[in-house]
Amino acid sequence: MTDLTTASPATAGPDREQLRADLAAWVHEHWDPQMALSHWRRQLLEAGWAVPSWPERWHGMGLPAWADDLVGSELIRLGAAGIPVGSGTWLAAPTILAHGPDELRERLLEPILIGEQTWCQLFSEPGAGSDLAGLSTSAVLDGETWVVNGQKVWNTSAHHADMGMLLARTDTSVPKHQGITYFALPMRQPGVEVRQLRQMNFHASFNEVFLTDARIPKDNVIGEVGKGWAAALTTLAYERRFSALQRPAYSPGAGRALDEARAEADDHFATYSWYPQRAGRPDLVIEHARSAGVGDDPVIRQAIARLITLWRASAWTAERARVARSRGARPGAEGSIGKLAASNLARECGRVHSMIAGASALLTGPGSPMNGVVAEILMSVPGQSIAGGTDEIQKNILAEKVLGLPPEVRIDKDVPFSQIRHRG
Ligand SMILES: Cc1cc2nc3c(=O)[nH]c(=O)nc-3n(C[C@H](O)[C@H](O)[C@H](O)COP(=O)(O)OP(=O)(O)OC[C@H]3O[C@@H](n4cnc5c(N)ncnc54)[C@H](O)[C@@H]3O)c2cc1C
Repeated sequence: MTDLTTASPATAGPDREQLRADLAAWVHEHWDPQMALSHWRRQLLEAGWAVPSWPERWHGMGLPAWADDLVGSELIRLGAAGIPVGSGTWLAAPTILAHGPDELRERLLEPILIGEQTWCQLFSEPGAGSDLAGLSTSAVLDGETWVVNGQKVWNTSAHHADMGMLLARTDTSVPKHQGITYFALPMRQPGVEVRQLRQMNFHASFNEVFLTDARIPKDNVIGEVGKGWAAALTTLAYERRFSALQRPAYSPGAGRALDEARAEADDHFATYSWYPQRAGRPDLVIEHARSAGVGDDPVIRQAIARLITLWRASAWTAERARVARSRGARPGAEGSIGKLAASNLARECGRVHSMIAGASALLTGPGSPMNGVVAEILMSVPGQSIAGGTDEIQKNILAEKVLGLPPEVRIDKDVPFSQIRHRG
């Protein structure tokens, strides 16, 4: 596989100040807040500003990875709209860029970066979550079309996605990692039934997806038939990196393009409105203690100090990962470290908020601690250590890939998938 995402050396291209100046001049010349958002994004794409770290052939400038973050935040600072938020931009696009083929890069990257197509991730199944390679949804080629049958679950935003990143089994005669193919599945078709799941925090951000003779055009294979595992690992690595979702701050009433970008972000982040609570809200702990009148309690003060220390250390870990990326490193083990740190922090937040509020931490509605936010934190924190690979799986990755410990015993790794007993 050619790793197109790191094709450019970290030292190539202009320095940060030069890039800022070039971008400001270009925005000054081209930005008109009254234009349609899609028109603006097409210009960004044509000029290479949408994803400057990508190769010139694929909408970029071949710049080092830091250029993406810099240009993204500069566009907002200059009052212009950036590329779309969401798993299309953050997961599907880099996977398609890295694994191809060219025909899909040509057909799928542009609609993602313009915001014409939204995506969801159809990986997990009732019998395959941590053991993702044990998935049993099948895809069989019938002439010019793949026919898909099976069930996916926990699929965030599948209820309003146009396309799905689908992992399906195309060969059961080989070991489980080798018979998987990664598809771009059109979601809006009779064979795809999406049912929303209600969560214990009252939100409904993920779904069950039932696939019954769903159809996929023959050429919608990301990477190669039977090589879907490699592409899936790329998506998972990006997912760990993007677990901290950034909402762009578009000011209201500033013109058509920004209104459209804000509506798009509102729509997207409606699904994720509980994610800050999932991360534990360390930013609210001091305010919570003061408002509950326990800011002087020495035990609570110690717990808060410990929590803030953890929060700072976690932020530095994330910063280390960001710097590694800006130097051109592919997302790797630091994603697992960052994800574990985020889980520890979220759990500790839940504990400290509960210490402060006592039993009333579970109350919602008027008069409840922080108007129900504390209850939402307690109900949401467990999701932090599951989404994007559980804590135990991150520890396995770190043990094997970083510490070089002996690998976990995997008795089903080398036998044909058809000979394995499945739990689904
Ligand atoms: C907020 C949220 C959003 C999500 N969004 C999506 C999405 O958009 N698309 C998607 O496809 N999926 C999504 N998921 C699903 C998520 O990827 C899975 O829940 C996760 O991979 C765990 O799988 P599982 O739920 O089947 O748990 P299991 O794999 O059944 O794990 C159960 C327990 O066993 C432990 N365990 C399992 N295997 C091992 C092992 N080898 N060593 C040690 N311990 C082990 C686990 O750590 C866990 O504690 C989402 C989940 C959450 C919480």
